[in-house]
Amino acid sequence: MGKVLIIGAGGVGRVVAHKCALNPDTFQHITLASRTLSKCEEIRNEIKDKWNREIDVARVDADNVNELIDLIHLVKPDLVINVALPYQDLTIMEACMETKVDYLDTANYEHPDTAKFEYKQQWALDEPFKERGIMGLLGSGFDPGVTNVFVAYAQKHYFDIIEYIDILDCNAGDHGYPFATNFNPEINIREVNSKGRYWENGKWIETEPMEIKMVWNYPEIGPKDSYLLYHEEEESLVKHIKGLKRIRFWMTFSESYLTHLRVLDNVGMTRIDPIEVDGCKVVPLHVLKALLPDPASLGARTKGKTNIGVVCEGIKDGKRRKIYIYNICDHQEAYKEVYSQCVSYTTGVPAMIGAKMMLERKWYQPGVWNMEQFDPDPFMEELNRQGLPWHVLEMEPNETREVE
Ligand code: NDP
Repeated sequence: MGKVLIIGAGGVGRVVAHKCALNPDTFQHITLASRTLSKCEEIRNEIKDKWNREIDVARVDADNVNELIDLIHLVKPDLVINVALPYQDLTIMEACMETKVDYLDTANYEHPDTAKFEYKQQWALDEPFKERGIMGLLGSGFDPGVTNVFVAYAQKHYFDIIEYIDILDCNAGDHGYPFATNFNPEINIREVNSKGRYWENGKWIETEPMEIKMVWNYPEIGPKDSYLLYHEEEESLVKHIKGLKRIRFWMTFSESYLTHLRVLDNVGMTRIDPIEVDGCKVVPLHVLKALLPDPASLGARTKGKTNIGVVCEGIKDGKRRKIYIYNICDHQEAYKEVYSQCVSYTTGVPAMIGAKMMLERKWYQPGVWNMEQFDPDPFMEELNRQGLPWHVLEMEPNETREVE
């Protein structure tokens, strides 16, 4: 049915490539391209050995629009799946517009020089995408991605009005290192060091990084320190969920992770502006990234589970209602299947499902879209089939899993 070009052969790219290979009826032809060809070749060989499927590989610099256009002309994909870095979103979207090919990503655009992410520039491409008759699906990972679909599902089946949303992201995995990040260290540390932000009564409220903490009792995991961060799905959900009064995002961090990060911050190792060392310009965060374990290498040694979900509270038939929808993913199970831990797995599987929705025309409309704008049901069915089953917990309206 479809031909895809996957760009980015990191942790997430590996999962997307494996999962597309496992769905041959939808993904008949797969090309994996990235900056470093050997990483694509390694994944190609894994897929051949494990699933006996052939995929093509290519080298591309996704910062270069002309290189992208040439590759798209060569491969002639129906869809480009962008799982490189958020810095490449706009160049890849531009190449898709030039070649009139559909586009999907998992993270919103961020400029390398400023740790600020927002949808403005990608939403501005809605009209140009419509004019060319192509579709762009933004944020088809887990958060953003599945969390948006969970909210759309809650809206469709459980509520007339959703007033409060808390998105809760817990990684209780242990990789055995004193300090490592589970996905791209540069993107991860930029996110964690940014100011926190949440939306209440029509206004964004800014906090210092890690200023607000609570302890949340995660199903099948237990109580964990959870910190309020700003996360990109808040921006689109505020726009698309009518009647919302508040939305917040929480992520778990261990004391040890935060202590290491504080020290690295204090000595300047997380700075993103270039400094001069022995006549060479270097960005300290790039040096740190080079020193830390490659997230792709954590898969084999990470044990434990993740639990990511949303708690929605609002009104149904005049009565207050609260539900918790979540997925639990086991690091070792994910590794057994596709040689990746859950952070990559929970992103790569929804990227493949989003692509499947588009290629099968279950979700298809020219323009640039966020996940909550489509019917959640076929996506939710695929989550159960493709390795990310979900649970719905009906809570009493005044019940909380917050631990005093
Ligand atoms: P990695 O750093 O592991 O992989 C990124 C890949 O992109 C690498 O193979 C890298 O190549 C390649 N790349 C980087 N720059 C270029 C370029 N200019 N041209 C071509 N290829 C390039 O990151 P992850 O796999 O962990 O993350 C991938 C994406 O997924 C990111 O955008 C991240 O923000 C997003 N994400 C989304 C989540 C969600 O839930 N929505 C959660 C986690 C991640 P090289 O190997 O040569 O450096």
